[in-house]
Amino acid sequence: MDPMSKRIHLAALPYPGRGHINALMNLCKLLSLKNPNILISFIVTDEWFTFLAADPKPQNIHFATFPNVIPSELRRADDFPGFIRSIQTHMEAPVETLLRRLDPPPTAILADTFLTWAVQLGKCLNVPVASLWPMSATVFSILYHFDLLEENGHFPADLSERGEEIVDYFPGVSKIRLADLPSFFSGNGLQSVGFAVKSARFVDKSQFLISTSVYELESSVIDTLKEKFPFPVYTIGPSTPYFELESSATNDYLRWLDSQAEGSVLYVSQGSYLSVSSAQMDEIVAGVKASGVRFLWVARGDDDRFKDVDRETGMVVGWCDQLRVLCHRAIGGFWTHGGWNSTLEGVFAGVPMLAWPIFWDQFPNSKKIAEDWKVGVRFKAVGGRDLVSRVEIAEFVKRFMNSESIEGREMRNRVSELQEICRRAVAKGGSSDSNIDAFLSHISVEL
Ligand code: UDP
Repeated sequence: MDPMSKRIHLAALPYPGRGHINALMNLCKLLSLKNPNILISFIVTDEWFTFLAADPKPQNIHFATFPNVIPSELRRADDFPGFIRSIQTHMEAPVETLLRRLDPPPTAILADTFLTWAVQLGKCLNVPVASLWPMSATVFSILYHFDLLEENGHFPADLSERGEEIVDYFPGVSKIRLADLPSFFSGNGLQSVGFAVKSARFVDKSQFLISTSVYELESSVIDTLKEKFPFPVYTIGPSTPYFELESSATNDYLRWLDSQAEGSVLYVSQGSYLSVSSAQMDEIVAGVKASGVRFLWVARGDDDRFKDVDRETGMVVGWCDQLRVLCHRAIGGFWTHGGWNSTLEGVFAGVPMLAWPIFWDQFPNSKKIAEDWKVGVRFKAVGGRDLVSRVEIAEFVKRFMNSESIEGREMRNRVSELQEICRRAVAKGGSSDSNIDAFLSHISVEL
């Protein structure tokens, strides 16, 4: 029987954070493009619904909401451990009630890996659960094999003394310094590591692992995961809205970009919910301004620092269509916090990256950008330890944006190569494209 002729009803359960929601929504859009017959219920809190309701989406994806049982998006940055606790304890019951009320009932669940209880829920409802891991496969492997760190005496560890020590025992993961592992050695990271490790281990109980990575970009680690699990492991990335780029769009910042020279603008975005210290931010803003490089800056509620910016120096926005911006010919560099979606978007757009990680997986992602893939650079003195001065930042930005230097040319050639790999993965018959087809067939067969 043709799998496309069956009615799949997928309940999509995102972890309530911007990067996670975007990745899941983009995958849902891809699934619905592939199979217009699919029905998808995208399950979010009432608060998230207000953020997302206006975004365009296909008709066969609809929102189903439950009350705000978890702290607001703002509180996530202030109290990350508390936020995680409420995800673990307050979210399951209202989501279960909602799933039981869905009509028709869901035939499969696609849940963020951080929602560990979703696996049990799938069992109760007698439907398969696909676990969506919206970070790198490398980080998944590190968390899944976290015991190895303890067995080798590398956890806990004081990074100020041992940060340079090399770890080479995570299956499929290239050599990595302790300082480049996710930031679980202190602070909020330390408080949340148990939750993250448990989440990765819970994947054992699911029926699929879906990674937003691109197979060719992390093949050695993905191969080890495929060997490890008795169920399919599908890479479908990048899970970003590249399929919407064809539609035309215009607005003030895109028009401003249209008027800039090719490759001349630095795009600055430090992620959706965390920031560096205020003193460091002062240095960053002053340093980028002093570099003389024009910029498009996503500054969330930070208007005071940019009062003197005019259209000759740059443009400041509260939010933008990031992938579209990155793909604009005027963008010559991307200052990123190294979130996984942003990292892959930079690669997909073929834009070299300047990474300044702030938290969690942004450290290993930045290492990947600078050392494994060599598609960018990163500041060395990061991690909240030293204040990097505006003078140093201005010099660094100037060097980074110079596309004529040997280093600049190599970085740009390399990112173009990886861009090509990414584009091939999502093109018809590519690794990500085929995996999406395979996943759809699987969940149809389960019907
Ligand atoms: N993003 C966006 N517009 C902005 C800033 C960010 O569309 O002005 C998107 C970005 O394209 C990415 C997501 O928000 O898909 C952020 O996810 P990421 O994993 O990079 O970082 P997080 O914010 O989760 O740390």
